[in-house]
Amino acid sequence: MTFSRRNFVKTSVLGAVAAGVGTRAQGEDPRQNDAAPSGPHKRPIIVCANNGYAYLENAFAFLKGGGDTLDAAIKVVKGPEDDPNDDSVGLGGIPSEEGVVELDACCMHGPTRRAGSVGGVRNIKNVALVSKAVMEHTGHVMLVGEGAERFAVAVGFPRENLLTEHSRKIWLLWKEFHSTDDWWGPGLADPHWQAPAFGPAGKDKPQSELWQDRIQNLQARAGDLGIEPELQLAAVRKVLFPPTGTIHCSALNDKGEISGVTTTSGLAFKLPGRCGDSPIIGAGCYTDQDVGSAGATGSGEENIKVAGAHTIVENMRHGMSPQEAGMDALKRIVRNYNGDMNRIHFLDMTYYILRKDGAYSGVSLWEGYSKGHPHKIAIHDGALRAEATVSLLKGYSQEFPPFPDIPEDLKKGSEYLK
Ligand code: ASP
Repeated sequence: MTFSRRNFVKTSVLGAVAAGVGTRAQGEDPRQNDAAPSGPHKRPIIVCANNGYAYLENAFAFLKGGGDTLDAAIKVVKGPEDDPNDDSVGLGGIPSEEGVVELDACCMHGPTRRAGSVGGVRNIKNVALVSKAVMEHTGHVMLVGEGAERFAVAVGFPRENLLTEHSRKIWLLWKEFHSTDDWWGPGLADPHWQAPAFGPAGKDKPQSELWQDRIQNLQARAGDLGIEPELQLAAVRKVLFPPTGTIHCSALNDKGEISGVTTTSGLAFKLPGRCGDSPIIGAGCYTDQDVGSAGATGSGEENIKVAGAHTIVENMRHGMSPQEAGMDALKRIVRNYNGDMNRIHFLDMTYYILRKDGAYSGVSLWEGYSKGHPHKIAIHDGALRAEATVSLLKGYSQEFPPFPDIPEDLKKGSEYLK
């Protein structure tokens, strides 16, 4: 029997449902240390989304040398903010539907139990630092839009154009392709939502061939727009499946002080003014000096509805391990869709979780975006490494080419919803 991708996904979902919450093969090593509840965990430690990996070494040295936990975490996330090639954060972020980059960020400083946040900020690259400035220099917690930008300039941040040529071209490709199909209209949570119609109903051609045509056309248009050949397919994928990215980082020092920060350019091609979870204290990031810290990347709207980071920290306060706490938040997202896999396939969520004793976990809704590209958490506790997250569901979000039909009997009522 040949084992197609379609079969693989069906089998995976079946397996997931049959196995209930765990969804992973028994005995499989989740490679994460909260499986071992006893014994001291390592401190200091920094955990972050994998796009912070390259910046962990410096930040860890700073933390170990007595640097503040929030400053250490911001050292990590500033890396991708400054990097024009990371198109999910800061400079070079994929813009809104109007072609304007709008950034969100928030932070929490455990030792002083303070927080700061900014949403929908244009023209300022280092919004994590701006959120810290809100925390330090105002009596507010959150500033948005033009007011946040003016505040940033007032406290010394330079204005600059955040739209790189590459992100502009991806946006143009999206504009051309989605002239009638965008973020306006019913969202995923709307009762009348329908899966996007991928191409004209395949009269003569099977869907797979229609997809090939469609991808080839888009690739040709990407070439016309001047996108380099080796980047064209990635650009097409971003147009067809607007990506999420973001970076969260939590840092814990040897004294047990803990802080967290999250920064993002948000969902690609969003409506101007849309704020996701990243600037929402309790959703994109939450830190409680008594318990630990958590942060998120992924489908922001879903995370806001379950107050993900706060839910996780509260779960740990009540005794759950970091992994259990994160899985519970993921199950709440699945519950919000009554287990309807046709919708859940369009979502993804990754949580980065750090308990005050140094235990950590990275958990995600799906294994990754495609086979061979698992979601990862990056860690530095003296040893720098990246580990695959533990996923609630087997398989991948946003199947590409289009996800297969989910059998009727699997759409609702999975065991983990009980
Ligand atoms: N969570 C972010 C948002 O919804 C996106 C992401 O993680 O990339 O804005």
